[in-house]
Amino acid sequence: MELPFAESWKIKMVEPIRKSTREEREQWIKEAHYNVFQLKANQVYIDLLTDSGTGAMSDRQWAGIMMGDESYAGADSFFKLKETIQRLTGFEYVIPTHQGRAAENVLFSYLVHEGDIVPGNSHFDTTKGHIEGRKAIALDCTVDEAKDTQLEVPFKGNVDPVKLENALKEHGDRIPFIIVTITNNTAGGQPVSMENLRQVRAVADKYGKPVVFDSARFAENAYFIKTREEGYADKTIKEITREMFALADGMTMSAKKDGLVNMGGFIATRKQEWYEGAKGYCVQFEGYLTYGGMNGRDMNALAIGLDENTEFDNLDTRIRQVQLLARLLDEYGIPYQRPAGGHAIFVDAPKVLTHVPKEEFPAQTLTIELYLEAGIRGCEIGYLLADRDPVTRENRFTGLDLLRLAIPRRVYTDNHIAVIAAALKNVYERRAEITRGVRIAWEAPLMRHFTVQLERL
Ligand SMILES: *Cc1c(COP(=O)(O)O)cnc(C)c1O
Repeated sequence: MELPFAESWKIKMVEPIRKSTREEREQWIKEAHYNVFQLKANQVYIDLLTDSGTGAMSDRQWAGIMMGDESYAGADSFFKLKETIQRLTGFEYVIPTHQGRAAENVLFSYLVHEGDIVPGNSHFDTTKGHIEGRKAIALDCTVDEAKDTQLEVPFKGNVDPVKLENALKEHGDRIPFIIVTITNNTAGGQPVSMENLRQVRAVADKYGKPVVFDSARFAENAYFIKTREEGYADKTIKEITREMFALADGMTMSAKKDGLVNMGGFIATRKQEWYEGAKGYCVQFEGYLTYGGMNGRDMNALAIGLDENTEFDNLDTRIRQVQLLARLLDEYGIPYQRPAGGHAIFVDAPKVLTHVPKEEFPAQTLTIELYLEAGIRGCEIGYLLADRDPVTRENRFTGLDLLRLAIPRRVYTDNHIAVIAAALKNVYERRAEITRGVRIAWEAPLMRHFTVQLERL
């Protein structure tokens, strides 16, 4: 008999979690203004809010923590991190920051100016925030396939090269760089193919523009290239990673994702000019150049995490767990962004809550229902997150409205996955009774979803 698949690690330390009653949850979510970001973590049984900074570190990473060099300048931990990033990406210059958005802040302070246009594939919310906050425009050039959640294509995160080229033709002089998010978080954790990265490079070269990768989940992207793209089955994740980054001029990184650490980020680039231009902003916003926003111990843990997470077995263990959840939802007939992405399942909320009008935020409504059902905290990646148009101030209802179930790395077991699927099935079975959603009682002018206060209708 062929042996079944099993995790590539065993467990050395555990953390108890607590169930709650429906009455408790009714009270807690009301106190949280129906915004799951406002819940206390101990009011949550299974936390799928995000896979960002929520993973479990390895024994080797914890050992690295003990060996951290906390010197203000020239710390050994910095050089370890820099050497690892250089080896994995081929980028020579490295600036550590406290997380991904800080990397964006430092690099974009140098590169993005009022009136600029930054084309890319479904810019992440903080990326968009750092562009729009500088009175520039984040222009979405994602392939149209990404909008059809039921279409089963392997690289739904791709940039549409025709849209990109049109943008360059039309606004060339206003475009400081092109940004490609790997994997495409906002479109459902969908990967970008190597072929597409090459197409983007070709268009960029034709118009003389640099390319930045927003690289939070670059290792998961490499896993999908290996498992889905012709010609890559026999290459290692590290080889594919090098090949991807060879097509970019620089990267911003949220190390809280594929860096396998709880906090951290960095900028890396081959352009000395960018390094020289951005480094002053690092000192101003983050810290001195050999620690940025990070502790020495955390730079050590990150260096080790980057190496671990560019090994196939680690990625295979993770992504198979996401695919297990997808298989269970298939069994129960629950529609989600197909095929399953790298870090999460994105449930297509308007297809589940067909009676809730878009003005009442179906995905947020489903998020609340799943929490009430079983204490599972998902996250709306939809109309609330999409925010308002910066010019017209109208809600943006044009994109997808998804409930994201993000799976933390190396944290939950397959039994937890079964609970999640069963809870969602229970909500799905009573979907006809859910006819009203929520309305906004208060919202912030930018990135409102973190703090928005809602009322149930
Ligand atoms: C998380 C994320 C960011 C921002 O990183 P933080 O570490 O949360 O500040 C940027 N881009 C993408 C694609 C992300 O997933």
